[in-house]
Amino acid sequence: RLARYEMYRELPTVTADGISVQLAINIANPKDAMAVKKVGAEGVGLYRTEFLFMDRKEMPSEEEQYYAYKAAVTAIGEHGPVIIRTLDVGGDKEIPYLQQSKESNPFLGYRAIRLCLGSGNADMFKMQLRAILRASVHGNVKIMYPMIATLQELRAANHLLKEAKVELDAMGVSYDDTIEVGIMIEVPAAALIADQLSKEVDFFSIGTNDLVQYTMAADRMNEQVAYLTQPLHPAVLRLIDQVIRAAHTQNKWVGMCGEMAGHPVAIPILIGMGLDEFSMSPAALLPARELISKLNCSEMVELVRDVLQMESADEIETYVKSNVLEFD
Ligand code: PEP
Ligand code: MG
Repeated sequence: RLARYEMYRELPTVTADGISVQLAINIANPKDAMAVKKVGAEGVGLYRTEFLFMDRKEMPSEEEQYYAYKAAVTAIGEHGPVIIRTLDVGGDKEIPYLQQSKESNPFLGYRAIRLCLGSGNADMFKMQLRAILRASVHGNVKIMYPMIATLQELRAANHLLKEAKVELDAMGVSYDDTIEVGIMIEVPAAALIADQLSKEVDFFSIGTNDLVQYTMAADRMNEQVAYLTQPLHPAVLRLIDQVIRAAHTQNKWVGMCGEMAGHPVAIPILIGMGLDEFSMSPAALLPARELISKLNCSEMVELVRDVLQMESADEIETYVKSNVLEFD
């Protein structure tokens, strides 16, 4: 099996009819970035920085964060960008030094960008932004905000980013002033206003783990409603299609960093919708590259037209398997 995929390690990711896409990996700490070279990935599509903040008694300092981000960036060298996601805690992820109150619906609560923009937390958020900016001189770094639901949140986060840059300027510290800033699309509200959001970002990355949970109103940790966790549900696919179209209208690229991006049944659909970047676990990457190399993008566009009219995830899965994946 390894030998089967080995040849794809050195190849770019291109469909049979010549459409290029990027395959990246998700990481949780700087050491994971080594896998970029191992599997021949085209960058890190999601660096979940919250692990640096968890399981400890006090917040990591700006220096500690800077060294962690720099380590990830230098580990991958020329092998594409590192998209660093700002702190995504709350929900199910608890941080002892942050005084989070008990919530009856943590996934609908004070988490991610909401917490970073919340009262008293601006200094913590700006410290992280400064550390990311400082790391940006060592390679290709992009910033990504999680859980954006409104234009105002995006603007508030960008306002603090601007302040972080001014603070670095005042200290004579250099950073990449053209650093790209994107947002995760993982709240249905954001998907529905993607046309507005796309005008004020450089890119989107669709977080399907949360987008599915919120679209289907089914807690991703609750076994009893796990049957509703359906990335191929027509409602989810229609939202994803809408997000990609909205971004492309503004000439912005769109990635996906939820589990769905590495799933063989989803990939043909996402290629047909025009997704530009797929970020996944390292183990899924070479099989994904092989699959994409066999797909005809123009045929997948027709496949998408068909599946968007179907009535269930099961129907869509069966259709993709019998029409596209039969060569496996
Ligand atoms: C997602 O929601 O799809 C995602 C990538 O973020 P996380 O799984 O860290 O919530
Ligand atoms: Mg998420």
